[in-house]
Amino acid sequence: MKYKVLIVGGGIVGCTTAMALVKRGYAVTIVERNQIASQTSGESSWAGAGILFPLLPWMYLHEVNQLTMRGAELYEETCATLFKETGLDAELIQSGMLLLPPFDEVAAQNWCKQNQLPFQQVRSGFEPSLANYDGNALWLPTVSQVRPPRLMQALRAWLEKNNVTLLERTELKPLQETQNLSSWETQTGEHLKADIFIVTSGAWSFELLKETASQLNIKPMRGQILLYKPAKNLEHMVYKEGFYMVPRRDGYLLAGSTLEDVGFDPTTTEIIRDQLRAKAAAIMPALKDLPIIKHWSGLRPGTPDNLPTIGAHPNIKNLYLNTGHFRYGLTMAPASAELVANLIV
Ligand SMILES: Cc1cc2nc3c(=O)[nH]c(=O)nc-3n(C[C@H](O)[C@H](O)[C@H](O)COP(=O)(O)OP(=O)(O)OC[C@H]3O[C@@H](n4cnc5c(N)ncnc54)[C@H](O)[C@@H]3O)c2cc1C
Repeated sequence: MKYKVLIVGGGIVGCTTAMALVKRGYAVTIVERNQIASQTSGESSWAGAGILFPLLPWMYLHEVNQLTMRGAELYEETCATLFKETGLDAELIQSGMLLLPPFDEVAAQNWCKQNQLPFQQVRSGFEPSLANYDGNALWLPTVSQVRPPRLMQALRAWLEKNNVTLLERTELKPLQETQNLSSWETQTGEHLKADIFIVTSGAWSFELLKETASQLNIKPMRGQILLYKPAKNLEHMVYKEGFYMVPRRDGYLLAGSTLEDVGFDPTTTEIIRDQLRAKAAAIMPALKDLPIIKHWSGLRPGTPDNLPTIGAHPNIKNLYLNTGHFRYGLTMAPASAELVANLIV
């Protein structure tokens, strides 16, 4: 008999967790209050830029870097499986990342050497579409990206093909104090039964669990992104002082983002649009008068130090958490899924 697992939340973390558990022989259901692989009210995974790298890794704890590096490594195998079994391409590309000054050059180079990450010091002109700059930039040729909406569509198709039940437009009620969880009630009063439950509900995880996990420290952190289609696109991802640009294969260019502590408000704002547009044009002058094709936002599951919670609930036996991946959930997801799945096995 297969154990039944119910996963709460169908973002990247829920979908990769489902994939990992299917491969280990579990019968999996994902409960999602909206729709998997789309964006209705701030879900983070669809909105993310898809850079598979912790922008300035020397600024983070070792655990954050371990999880991101392992996640980035697993993408090759994950995307190959998705493409082979669904025909959908998540657009994993090793487009490399150019870090523009100012940044801590000594810390950056030391980190790259210690972690065997190839790097090269380059000067202005290396990426011809950029405005001139003084000082050294750091070229990281092996940094990759994925395209989140395509990745989510491919995951969704794979899960359907592998008999994962997708219960969409179904919202679970906040969990009340309980020692032994055998079912979880939906907002319409249905009781969903399973042997094991996993919370992967991103920024909403604390609202779902606060009666039973008062120390869980997760809150929404909004990020906004602009989309352009320049006549000549960048060849590489570019980062400068908290701002990045990500070129897609079909000529689109993302420019973002922000870190805003505004609660569960998924709207986009004109003031941020103008700030992002000014930053983008200062780095790449061709964007100055170019129309913005799209402007969106997402609510990241913000946590202190960017550290997610991955593990068993301390008091409720058959409940697990895989949540709070903040800025790097797309990168961390396959590694985080592997950890929680192995724990359950
Ligand atoms: C602008 C922006 C740029 C980003 N760029 C990157 C990047 O380049 N690289 C990177 O690694 N990461 C990036 N991230 C972060 C990344 O997107 C997140 O860490 C990741 O998507 C979190 O995934 P998740 O599955 O936990 O959350 P989500 O994708 O938010 O999924 C949680 C799901 O749970 C559902 N849910 C919530 N409550 C309930 C309930 N009660 N019942 C049923 N369902 C429920 C929600 O509807 C939602 O679909 C970015 C984020 C943003 C906003």
